[in-house]
Amino acid sequence: MADARRLFPDFDVTRSWLLDAVPALSDEDLEAYLRRLGFSETQLAYTQRGFAGAAGEAMRNLSAQASLDEMHDNSAGEGDYRILDGYDALLRPLASGIDLRLNTAVERVAWREHHVTVTTAGGEVFAADQVVITLPLGVLKASVVQFEPELPAAKRAAIERLGVAPVLKLIYRFAEPILPDGVMALYSALNPCMWWSPSFGQPSGDYVLTAFVTADRARELLALGEAGALAKGIETLQIELDRRDLQPLEARMVNWVEDAYSRGGYSFTPPGAIEAHDALAQPLADTLFWAGEATAGHVWKATVHGAYASGLRAAHQLLSVLAEKETRQV
Ligand SMILES: Cc1cc2nc3c(=O)[nH]c(=O)nc-3n(C[C@H](O)[C@H](O)[C@H](O)COP(=O)(O)OP(=O)(O)OC[C@H]3O[C@@H](n4cnc5c(N)ncnc54)[C@H](O)[C@@H]3O)c2cc1C
Repeated sequence: MADARRLFPDFDVTRSWLLDAVPALSDEDLEAYLRRLGFSETQLAYTQRGFAGAAGEAMRNLSAQASLDEMHDNSAGEGDYRILDGYDALLRPLASGIDLRLNTAVERVAWREHHVTVTTAGGEVFAADQVVITLPLGVLKASVVQFEPELPAAKRAAIERLGVAPVLKLIYRFAEPILPDGVMALYSALNPCMWWSPSFGQPSGDYVLTAFVTADRARELLALGEAGALAKGIETLQIELDRRDLQPLEARMVNWVEDAYSRGGYSFTPPGAIEAHDALAQPLADTLFWAGEATAGHVWKATVHGAYASGLRAAHQLLSVLAEKETRQV
């Protein structure tokens, strides 16, 4: 490792995250900050493919301060975990015993203090004293759900200030494993740059390889259309694996940008927008409560644990309002 660092100075800073103790300015973007620290073009490209790629946006659009806080945060525990049975396994116990309506799109939320009526696309109307709103940030930005009266300016401003990352996946099924034995992931300087096999560790005859694509690389692929994007992905694999004849049995693109019920992958924090996460989470008139990843704060946003924690926080906020009401009535 020491030799590698000595021979390749680029490797040193990017791999070890030995960022100098230089605080970021409150409205500084990540690229400007890293340039200020002396990152080379190679290091910037590496950071874009790694950290910023996972954050979902180009470094020029990410808050440097939020990025540093996120890098140094271990409050959700160390490391990442994969749920081998899929995320359904996490949701099933949470949904058990709840009157959960699937395929029921909300179109209108009419509200006044301690009274809400929610109207769905199918014309059903639900009335309640309070609601918890977990609409994705992209859906809130698109204003496809009508709030009556309109949301106050501070809430709208928070929705506008935060960003939604362009995120897509290219998924390929092959006749046999195409990565070497014991290798789960592949990182490339080409587009897509981040690949892994969900088949890894699974007792299945299928061999699936997934590319996770965000930011400018996602914009580039989206401009090619689904067939063009899938072809570009295969071209990258053919080059990286030096197998010019490589072809999948089947392939598909999952595009969160055009999914009407997400309108983007997940939230990111633009420069100067750290406080907007908390502003989005603020309850309105003890009646509209807000949960979902974008309300989980700038460090836990864009994650499953953030979404989960935000739901617990909103439930506690709502229950404390109900408890106060009960106390007043006694
Ligand atoms: C490709 C990808 C990879 C990811 N990888 C990871 C990862 O490895 N680790 C991690 O921690 N996080 C990851 N995330 C982020 C994580 O999935 C999200 O942060 C989390 O799912 C957000 O949960 P949520 O409840 O806030 O929003 P969602 O899960 O988006 O739930 C919002 C719900 O609202 C519904 N909805 C939308 N509009 C309406 C409407 N008008 N009426 C009624 N319902 C509506 C939607 O259908 C959806 O069910 C990833 C996200 C993507 C896109």
